[in-house]
Amino acid sequence: MTSNVGIQIPSRLPLLLTHEGVLLPGSTMRISVDTPRNMHLVRSRLLKGTSLKSTIIGVIPNTRDPEHDTDDLPTLHSIGTAGMAVQVVGSNWPKPHYTLLITGVCRFRVSGLLKERPFPLAEVEQLDKLEQYTTPATEGVTAEDGELGELSQRFYQAAVQLVGMLDMSVPVVAKLKRLLDSLPRETLPDVVASMIRTSNKEKLQVLDAVSLEERFRKTLPMLTRQIEGLKLLQKTRKPRLDDDKRVLSVRKSGGFPGRQFSLEDEGEDEDGDDTAALERKVHGANMPEAAFRVCLKELKRLKKMPQSMPEYALTRNYLDLMVELPWSKSTKDCLDIRAARILLDNDHYAMDKLKRRVLEYLAVRQLKTSLKGPILCFVGPPGVGKTSVGRSIARTLGREFHRIALGGVCDQSDIRGHRRTYVGSMPGRIINGLKTVGVNNPVFLLDEVDKLGKSLQGDPAAALLEVLDPEQNHSFTDHYLNVAFDLSQVLFIATANTTATIPPALLDRMEVLQVPGYTQEEKVEIAHRHLIPNQLEQHGLTPQQLQIPQDTTQDVITRYTREAGVRSLERKIGAICRAVAVKVAEGQKVTKPEASAPEGPVQEQGDMAAPPEMPIVIDHIALKDILGPPLFEMEVSERLTLPGVALGLAWTPLGGEIMFVEASRMEGEGQLTLTGQLGDVMKESAHLAISWLRANAKNYQLTNMVGAPDPMEGTDIHLHFPAGAVTKDGPSAGVTIVTCLASLFSGRLVRSDVAMTGEITLRGLVLPVGGIKDKVLAAHRAGVKRVILPKRNEKDLEELPANVRAELDFVTAANLDDVLNAAFDGGFPATTSAHTHPQLISKL
Ligand code: ADP
Repeated sequence: MTSNVGIQIPSRLPLLLTHEGVLLPGSTMRISVDTPRNMHLVRSRLLKGTSLKSTIIGVIPNTRDPEHDTDDLPTLHSIGTAGMAVQVVGSNWPKPHYTLLITGVCRFRVSGLLKERPFPLAEVEQLDKLEQYTTPATEGVTAEDGELGELSQRFYQAAVQLVGMLDMSVPVVAKLKRLLDSLPRETLPDVVASMIRTSNKEKLQVLDAVSLEERFRKTLPMLTRQIEGLKLLQKTRKPRLDDDKRVLSVRKSGGFPGRQFSLEDEGEDEDGDDTAALERKVHGANMPEAAFRVCLKELKRLKKMPQSMPEYALTRNYLDLMVELPWSKSTKDCLDIRAARILLDNDHYAMDKLKRRVLEYLAVRQLKTSLKGPILCFVGPPGVGKTSVGRSIARTLGREFHRIALGGVCDQSDIRGHRRTYVGSMPGRIINGLKTVGVNNPVFLLDEVDKLGKSLQGDPAAALLEVLDPEQNHSFTDHYLNVAFDLSQVLFIATANTTATIPPALLDRMEVLQVPGYTQEEKVEIAHRHLIPNQLEQHGLTPQQLQIPQDTTQDVITRYTREAGVRSLERKIGAICRAVAVKVAEGQKVTKPEASAPEGPVQEQGDMAAPPEMPIVIDHIALKDILGPPLFEMEVSERLTLPGVALGLAWTPLGGEIMFVEASRMEGEGQLTLTGQLGDVMKESAHLAISWLRANAKNYQLTNMVGAPDPMEGTDIHLHFPAGAVTKDGPSAGVTIVTCLASLFSGRLVRSDVAMTGEITLRGLVLPVGGIKDKVLAAHRAGVKRVILPKRNEKDLEELPANVRAELDFVTAANLDDVLNAAFDGGFPATTSAHTHPQLISKL
């Protein structure tokens, strides 16, 4: 610093305008340079020059808002600091820029601008007379110094007091003490102002204070404020607490507001404005103590990092996320059970059982505000309204809604985030979701929990367990955040197509609510109450322009869709709307000139020529024209025209399905061939069926091809389950296989309108099976008239809608004899009853 004494600066100086703070004489500052004007200055002046004078440039704080900075030169602040460029570093990352290390020498005033381009050059007048700086501050005050002397003395003493309060074992502090003693007093205010915490605005005031007296007057309050702050800090500081805790304790005691004291190494300029803004946000984010402490630590690191370092962006992103997370922001629940009931009923037709359970759940929540209830999991085929019920729940509670799709997630960091050590690391879906909704009590819909995968990267289900467990989720730790976030206010709802593939531990934490498929009638109602009005609105049509009669809807349901839910029905209605929209738009074009035609006889004529305004009604012909030929025909009766075919009912995660079983026989050695992607249980059922039929062949007069009493003698059997791409397994096809083979061995046709389901035993009993409701609905969809099911499944029929029950003929079977009798026209008589057991005769 003292080496600057006596320097005479050139009368013409190139000017560097910077947003990065205020350079004061006697301090050193790092300035990042990237504007074209400043880059030019560095290149043609600093890098090319050879003399000492060429390293001196004028640094002027740019007072224009950086966001509104334009190409033209802003009005120059009249006072600047001549600085000596000590170091110039260039880099191309992330964009070309230079970083200058500049030491302030003295103030100057701009007396005239000589040129603006390529960089500003100005005529300047040196303000600080460096050659007169001779009086060391340590010297006492003489009488002729007057007020200035007194001021400077007070200032010096305050500075000594401040340094005395600091920890002398820190090297910078020791350096500072030495500096204070050797500096001429004229430089004291500048040097001290650049070292203590002052805002850029305050520094600008110091720069503008040209007279020494004024400068002392301006800086003294800043210095005293700093001393007061430090005193307060020391009062609240507990022994051996680290820096962060020190700051924290001040915050908690409500003490020294805003900025905290810190002495920065090497006199570097403090954080730029945006770091300061970030710091303010950290203080305002209302986060828990642990998170706050981590943020402060990261902030501290950030301030020390040059912006060009890749880690700067990482740390910055992390802090941005931390301040954005809704640590303590939440929406207020507005739960009114009556309103909730109305809303659920309005949004969804049918699904009474589900709606009832959801209302119960909400009612309990209203009475008991703690959230430690079970997690609801809606299980059912696609398109039955699981997601949309979830959305309604959020609406009734007045909460934000967010859907997290889990299908195909096979990496636990998808849920829990990546550690920040990875390049491109990011938080998991839960934290991301919270950031998106901006409150800490949203409704999260975990969609498709049954499709979670597993891989080498860990099991995502295990991570979900932690999320869903009310005992643990108040301190959920995302790997990226690395601090706990309280998830206990989040309402989780899960959906799945089947419970079979949900990991058991996860299933254990959820209450499963089955959402079965819809009947044809329910679908028609849903279409007319919800889907058609929605689609009309989405396509900009009105009911006056398009009408879809119930008959047509029914046709769409049976001949163009085959599903348990209503998603493809909705798509088909969308297709009809699109086709009609074209017609309506064309029609409007034609009628336009008429509309603008002048009044009078001409218009009358036009009116008569135009077709009358009428809704477009979609009848069967229009339907075929729009959707093409029907995709599904009633194939049941067509396929049951040969012996050896029977119709079974299967349950799949996508709802119930009808399933054909075909059998044929040929000469051979009694072998059984099975095709159609079958599981082990299915193969066993086939063997069981054959054994039972062989055992009872005599009773039912079953024969082989040439009429021998053993149907397998000299015969090979081939059983086929069409739709080979789908894996089929489960015991419920047992009765169908028996019926199919009985038809083959007897040469009789199975009734074309019968479908069946049931497990068999070797003794010919029929055991109950699952999924009856879905299976019966599938049979009803396919136009079957009679359904054969196990006797012990009779109770499941109560769940069926009344109209389905009325339209179908149910035969409950306790044994295979009952099944065969119901499956064939005129029964399937046995000579002696197949299932009668030999009478026990007492030996007594
Ligand atoms: P999922 O989540 O079960 O696959 P969605 O909730 O996405 O199904 O439902 C698909 C569409 O069907 C949505 O547009 C939804 O509004 C509609 N929908 C399904 N069930 C009903 C219902 N009972 N009443 C009204 N609309 C329904």
